Amino acid sequence: MSEFPTRAKCVVIGAGIVGNCLVGHLSKLGWTDMVLIDKGPLPNPGGSTGHASNFIFPTDHNKEMALLTLASQRQYIDHGMNNTSGGIEVARTPERLEEFNRRMTSAKSWGIDARLLTPAQVKELVPFINEKIILGGFYTPSVSVVDSLQTGTLMRESAQKAGHLKVFANTEVLDLETENGTIKAVVTNKGRIEAEYVVIACGVWSPRIAEMAGANIPLTPAVHQMADVGPIDILQQSNAEVAYPIIRDMDTFCYERQTAGSMEVGSYAHRPIFMHPNDIPSNEESALSPTELPLTQDDFDPQMEQAIELMEMLGDAEIKYAINGLLSLTPDAMPVLGERQR
Ligand SMILES: Cc1cc2nc3c(=O)[nH]c(=O)nc-3n(C[C@H](O)[C@H](O)[C@H](O)COP(=O)(O)OP(=O)(O)OC[C@H]3O[C@@H](n4cnc5c(N)ncnc54)[C@H](O)[C@@H]3O)c2cc1C
Repeated sequence: MSEFPTRAKCVVIGAGIVGNCLVGHLSKLGWTDMVLIDKGPLPNPGGSTGHASNFIFPTDHNKEMALLTLASQRQYIDHGMNNTSGGIEVARTPERLEEFNRRMTSAKSWGIDARLLTPAQVKELVPFINEKIILGGFYTPSVSVVDSLQTGTLMRESAQKAGHLKVFANTEVLDLETENGTIKAVVTNKGRIEAEYVVIACGVWSPRIAEMAGANIPLTPAVHQMADVGPIDILQQSNAEVAYPIIRDMDTFCYERQTAGSMEVGSYAHRPIFMHPNDIPSNEESALSPTELPLTQDDFDPQMEQAIELMEMLGDAEIKYAINGLLSLTPDAMPVLGERQR
């Protein structure tokens, strides 16, 4: 491990997918003298990246978001970390089916291959689905599952190998020193680094870090519940990480994504459960990780019932792992990026 530096051109705080990806890109653009810091251990420091379901559905009505998603997916393809599974958004109501017609328009406009399926056609692709309760599906063959932890690691390591980046894990940022509204130095438990550029890529912790510099990053840590249900025979027999298209049950705000022999059931339907960034437990205090909080079962039960309605086999299997996962929500559901405006 190299000596802790006292100066750097650029300090990036946070080694989740965002921080790792950023240092990889900056290195390719010729940036040198960079330092990446994370308070957790590597390769999985305990942020949201370590336990994401990791799927990518490319179609969005917003053109910028759709093209940004396609650009992200291309990067995973370039790193050999993109596993194409296909994905089907299913409708339980006529209104949702109508929305799928609009999605077809967006998909065609942004050049994404997609098609509408009848319930019988959905069943052909996903034999364990209860086609009687759906009215149709919006199928995107290019939907994929990626490895964000490994891709981030590769991007970070490419910058290190080029000699452009030093990395410090288990190093916590405690303060940001400012002068005339500009960050001058990053104070950590290992020492103080003066820097020309400082990037906050701290996911759910970002508002807490921004506050150290008197700035505000408008995002809120929110719970997204997820359970891994299995083993399930038909999934085990497929002998693959993802053999069946990912299902998004759009009217119940749930998804079902195969992960080898079991099924991840994710829910956005529960009551809003928010957390202040200062209340997120430390790595040491966490049983799993700071962003894998214990499942609040009562919130999950109604969604599990709806998932079982769609896939009966889920009712016969055990819940192996279940969390109140933490992710970032912004006021307009768009990303927060760019320079701090004074
Ligand atoms: C259950 C679940 C499922 C998900 N599924 C998907 C999905 O299928 N597809 C998708 O696109 N997204 C998904 N997400 C969202 C995705 O996980 C996040 O958007 C993404 O991982 C955020 O990455 P990040 O780099 O911004 O943050 P993080 O990965 O959280 O990284 C932030 C880092 O900052 C570090 N840090 C914080 N404070 C400090 C400090 N003081 N000093 C030093 N370091 C610090 C942390 O240790 C952490 O490593 C899911 C999220 C959850 C919870």
